[in-house]
Amino acid sequence: MRLRHIKGCEDFITDAKECIREDKAIALKGNIQDIFEEKRPLQIEIGMGKGQFIRNMAMRYQNINFIGIEKYESVLMKAIQRKRNLETEKSIDNLRFLCADAKKLSEIFEVGEVDKIFLNFSDPWPKDRHANRRLTSPDFLNIYDIILKKDGVIEFKTDNVGLFEYSLEVVKDSKWKLDFCSFDFHSEKESEENIMTEYEEKFSGQGNKICKMIISR
Ligand code: SAM
Repeated sequence: MRLRHIKGCEDFITDAKECIREDKAIALKGNIQDIFEEKRPLQIEIGMGKGQFIRNMAMRYQNINFIGIEKYESVLMKAIQRKRNLETEKSIDNLRFLCADAKKLSEIFEVGEVDKIFLNFSDPWPKDRHANRRLTSPDFLNIYDIILKKDGVIEFKTDNVGLFEYSLEVVKDSKWKLDFCSFDFHSEKESEENIMTEYEEKFSGQGNKICKMIISR
Protein backbone atom coordinates (compact mmCIF):
# COMPACT_ATOMS: atom_id res chain seq x y z
CA MET A 1 0.00 0.00 0.00
CA ARG A 2 1.53 3.29 -1.00
CA LEU A 3 -0.60 6.35 -0.48
CA ARG A 4 0.32 9.54 -2.25
CA HIS A 5 2.56 11.68 -0.08
CA ILE A 6 0.41 13.58 2.40
CA LYS A 7 1.65 17.08 3.13
CA GLY A 8 2.78 17.38 6.74
CA CYS A 9 2.94 13.65 7.42
CA GLU A 10 6.64 13.80 8.44
CA ASP A 11 5.86 16.34 11.18
CA PHE A 12 2.75 14.40 12.17
CA ILE A 13 4.83 11.23 12.65
CA THR A 14 7.58 13.12 14.50
CA ASP A 15 5.03 14.56 16.94
CA ALA A 16 2.97 11.38 17.39
CA LYS A 17 3.63 10.10 20.90
CA GLU A 18 2.47 6.58 20.01
CA CYS A 19 4.99 6.23 17.16
CA ILE A 20 8.74 5.77 16.98
CA ARG A 21 10.99 6.12 13.93
CA GLU A 22 13.61 3.61 12.81
CA ASP A 23 16.66 5.62 13.98
CA LYS A 24 15.27 6.22 17.48
CA ALA A 25 14.19 2.58 17.73
CA ILE A 26 17.71 1.42 16.82
CA ALA A 27 19.12 3.66 19.55
CA LEU A 28 16.65 2.06 21.99
CA LYS A 29 17.66 -1.52 21.11
CA GLY A 30 17.13 -3.83 24.07
CA ASN A 31 14.66 -1.39 25.66
CA ILE A 32 12.02 -1.11 22.98
CA GLN A 33 9.33 -1.91 25.56
CA ASP A 34 10.09 1.51 27.10
CA ILE A 35 7.70 2.90 24.48
CA PHE A 36 4.84 1.25 26.43
CA GLU A 37 3.55 2.23 29.84
CA GLU A 38 3.84 -1.38 30.98
CA LYS A 39 5.98 -4.34 29.85
CA ARG A 40 3.94 -7.25 28.48
CA PRO A 41 4.48 -10.07 25.94
CA LEU A 42 5.24 -8.48 22.56
CA GLN A 43 3.60 -9.18 19.19
CA ILE A 44 4.31 -7.30 15.95
CA GLU A 45 2.67 -6.92 12.55
CA ILE A 46 5.13 -6.20 9.75
CA GLY A 47 3.60 -4.15 6.92
CA MET A 48 0.45 -3.24 8.85
CA GLY A 49 -0.92 -0.71 6.33
CA LYS A 50 -3.66 1.39 7.94
CA GLY A 51 -3.62 -0.86 11.00
CA GLN A 52 -7.12 -2.35 11.26
CA PHE A 53 -5.82 -5.79 12.29
CA ILE A 54 -3.33 -4.67 14.94
CA ARG A 55 -5.80 -2.14 16.39
CA ASN A 56 -8.44 -4.80 16.86
CA MET A 57 -5.86 -7.26 18.23
CA ALA A 58 -4.77 -4.66 20.79
CA MET A 59 -8.36 -4.07 21.88
CA ARG A 60 -9.10 -7.81 22.15
CA TYR A 61 -5.85 -8.84 23.89
CA GLN A 62 -5.12 -6.13 26.43
CA ASN A 63 -2.50 -8.24 28.26
CA ILE A 64 -0.23 -8.14 25.18
CA ASN A 65 1.78 -5.25 23.75
CA PHE A 66 1.49 -4.77 19.99
CA ILE A 67 3.74 -2.87 17.59
CA GLY A 68 2.47 -2.13 14.09
CA ILE A 69 5.35 -1.68 11.64
CA GLU A 70 5.00 0.26 8.41
CA LYS A 71 7.63 1.84 6.22
CA TYR A 72 5.52 4.58 4.57
CA GLU A 73 4.76 7.64 6.69
CA SER A 74 1.59 8.58 4.83
CA VAL A 75 0.13 5.11 5.51
CA LEU A 76 1.24 5.18 9.13
CA MET A 77 -0.38 8.57 9.63
CA LYS A 78 -3.75 7.03 8.68
CA ALA A 79 -3.17 4.18 11.17
CA ILE A 80 -2.42 6.64 13.97
CA GLN A 81 -5.45 8.82 13.13
CA ARG A 82 -7.74 5.77 13.14
CA LYS A 83 -6.38 4.63 16.50
CA ARG A 84 -6.99 8.11 17.93
CA ASN A 85 -10.54 8.19 16.58
CA LEU A 86 -11.27 5.06 18.62
CA GLU A 87 -9.81 6.49 21.77
CA THR A 88 -12.54 8.92 22.71
CA GLU A 89 -13.46 6.92 25.83
CA LYS A 90 -10.36 4.86 26.66
CA SER A 91 -6.81 5.00 25.36
CA ILE A 92 -5.37 1.91 23.69
CA ASP A 93 -2.14 1.87 25.67
CA ASN A 94 -0.90 -1.54 24.48
CA LEU A 95 -0.51 -0.41 20.84
CA ARG A 96 2.45 1.50 19.41
CA PHE A 97 3.74 2.10 15.90
CA LEU A 98 7.17 1.82 14.36
CA CYS A 99 8.07 3.64 11.16
CA ALA A 100 10.74 1.34 9.76
CA ASP A 101 11.74 -0.96 6.96
CA ALA A 102 11.48 -4.64 7.91
CA LYS A 103 15.11 -5.02 6.79
CA LYS A 104 16.15 -3.19 9.96
CA LEU A 105 14.28 -5.29 12.49
CA SER A 106 17.31 -7.17 13.85
CA GLU A 107 18.91 -3.77 14.56
CA ILE A 108 15.83 -2.75 16.54
CA PHE A 109 14.73 -5.84 18.45
CA GLU A 110 16.94 -7.93 20.72
CA VAL A 111 17.49 -11.62 20.07
CA GLY A 112 14.28 -13.48 20.98
CA GLU A 113 12.47 -10.32 22.10
CA VAL A 114 9.32 -10.81 20.00
CA ASP A 115 6.67 -13.37 20.99
CA LYS A 116 4.76 -13.48 17.71
CA ILE A 117 5.04 -12.03 14.21
CA PHE A 118 2.10 -11.34 11.89
CA LEU A 119 2.53 -10.91 8.14
CA ASN A 120 -0.77 -9.94 6.55
CA PHE A 121 -1.29 -9.53 2.82
CA SER A 122 2.35 -8.69 2.25
CA ASP A 123 3.19 -7.11 -1.11
CA PRO A 124 3.59 -10.04 -3.58
CA TRP A 125 6.45 -8.62 -5.70
CA PRO A 126 5.57 -11.00 -8.58
CA LYS A 127 8.73 -10.47 -10.66
CA ASP A 128 11.53 -12.97 -9.96
CA ARG A 129 14.10 -10.20 -9.76
CA HIS A 130 12.18 -8.70 -6.83
CA ALA A 131 11.82 -11.97 -4.91
CA ASN A 132 14.13 -10.81 -2.11
CA ARG A 133 11.70 -7.95 -1.34
CA ARG A 134 8.96 -10.44 -0.41
CA LEU A 135 8.51 -10.44 3.37
CA THR A 136 8.64 -14.26 3.35
CA SER A 137 11.96 -14.48 1.45
CA PRO A 138 14.84 -16.45 3.05
CA ASP A 139 16.60 -13.19 4.05
CA PHE A 140 13.53 -11.96 5.92
CA LEU A 141 12.96 -15.36 7.57
CA ASN A 142 16.56 -15.13 8.84
CA ILE A 143 15.79 -11.75 10.41
CA TYR A 144 12.63 -13.14 12.04
CA ASP A 145 14.69 -16.11 13.29
CA ILE A 146 16.86 -13.66 15.25
CA ILE A 147 14.15 -11.51 16.83
CA LEU A 148 11.51 -14.17 17.51
CA LYS A 149 11.65 -16.03 20.82
CA LYS A 150 12.52 -19.75 20.74
CA ASP A 151 8.97 -21.09 20.72
CA GLY A 152 7.49 -18.10 18.89
CA VAL A 153 5.41 -18.38 15.72
CA ILE A 154 4.83 -16.43 12.52
CA GLU A 155 1.29 -16.18 11.18
CA PHE A 156 0.98 -15.29 7.50
CA LYS A 157 -2.25 -14.58 5.60
CA THR A 158 -2.67 -13.67 1.94
CA ASP A 159 -5.09 -14.06 -0.94
CA ASN A 160 -2.17 -14.27 -3.37
CA VAL A 161 -1.71 -17.96 -4.20
CA GLY A 162 1.58 -17.30 -6.04
CA LEU A 163 3.10 -15.61 -2.99
CA PHE A 164 1.69 -18.31 -0.71
CA GLU A 165 3.18 -21.15 -2.80
CA TYR A 166 6.52 -19.32 -2.99
CA SER A 167 6.46 -18.95 0.82
CA LEU A 168 5.68 -22.68 1.29
CA GLU A 169 8.76 -23.49 -0.84
CA VAL A 170 10.93 -21.14 1.22
CA VAL A 171 9.70 -22.77 4.43
CA LYS A 172 10.31 -26.28 3.01
CA ASP A 173 13.95 -25.38 2.26
CA SER A 174 14.54 -23.87 5.70
CA LYS A 175 14.60 -24.87 9.34
CA TRP A 176 11.05 -23.53 9.80
CA LYS A 177 8.23 -26.04 10.37
CA LEU A 178 4.75 -25.71 8.95
CA ASP A 179 2.32 -25.93 11.91
CA PHE A 180 -0.80 -24.93 9.99
CA CYS A 181 -1.55 -24.49 6.31
CA SER A 182 -4.78 -23.70 4.48
CA PHE A 183 -5.57 -22.45 0.99
CA ASP A 184 -9.11 -21.56 2.13
CA PHE A 185 -8.75 -20.51 5.73
CA HIS A 186 -12.15 -18.81 6.06
CA SER A 187 -13.93 -22.11 5.44
CA GLU A 188 -12.21 -23.70 8.47
CA LYS A 189 -13.06 -23.76 12.16
CA GLU A 190 -9.71 -22.13 12.93
CA SER A 191 -11.06 -18.89 11.37
CA GLU A 192 -13.73 -18.29 14.03
CA GLU A 193 -11.35 -16.22 16.17
CA ASN A 194 -9.95 -14.48 13.10
CA ILE A 195 -9.48 -10.72 13.08
CA MET A 196 -9.75 -9.42 9.53
CA THR A 197 -7.27 -7.02 8.01
CA GLU A 198 -8.33 -4.28 5.58
CA TYR A 199 -7.07 -6.26 2.60
CA GLU A 200 -8.65 -9.45 3.89
CA GLU A 201 -12.08 -7.79 4.06
CA LYS A 202 -11.66 -6.37 0.59
CA PHE A 203 -10.42 -9.52 -1.15
CA SER A 204 -12.63 -12.04 0.65
CA GLY A 205 -15.54 -9.70 -0.12
CA GLN A 206 -14.65 -10.10 -3.80
CA GLY A 207 -14.86 -13.90 -3.40
CA ASN A 208 -11.11 -14.60 -3.16
CA LYS A 209 -10.02 -17.46 -0.91
CA ILE A 210 -7.70 -16.54 1.94
CA CYS A 211 -4.57 -18.62 2.51
CA LYS A 212 -2.97 -18.91 5.94
CA MET A 213 0.11 -20.57 7.34
CA ILE A 214 1.59 -20.70 10.82
CA ILE A 215 5.28 -21.54 11.09
CA SER A 216 7.68 -22.13 13.96
CA ARG A 217 11.10 -23.72 14.41
N1 SAM B 1 -1.40 -5.68 6.46
C1 SAM B 1 -2.33 -4.77 5.86
C2 SAM B 1 -3.58 -5.49 5.46
O1 SAM B 1 -3.56 -6.73 5.41
O2 SAM B 1 -4.59 -4.83 5.19
C3 SAM B 1 -1.69 -4.00 4.67
C4 SAM B 1 -1.28 -4.84 3.50
S1 SAM B 1 -0.45 -3.89 2.25
C5 SAM B 1 -0.64 -4.84 0.84
C6 SAM B 1 1.27 -4.21 2.65
C7 SAM B 1 1.90 -3.14 3.51
O3 SAM B 1 3.23 -3.54 3.85
C8 SAM B 1 2.05 -1.79 2.82
O4 SAM B 1 1.46 -0.78 3.61
C9 SAM B 1 3.55 -1.60 2.66
O5 SAM B 1 3.94 -0.25 2.73
C10 SAM B 1 4.09 -2.42 3.82
N2 SAM B 1 5.46 -2.91 3.59
C11 SAM B 1 5.89 -3.54 2.49
N3 SAM B 1 7.20 -3.85 2.61
C12 SAM B 1 7.58 -3.40 3.83
C13 SAM B 1 8.82 -3.39 4.53
N4 SAM B 1 9.91 -3.91 3.98
N5 SAM B 1 8.87 -2.86 5.76
C14 SAM B 1 7.76 -2.31 6.32
N6 SAM B 1 6.55 -2.27 5.70
C15 SAM B 1 6.46 -2.80 4.47
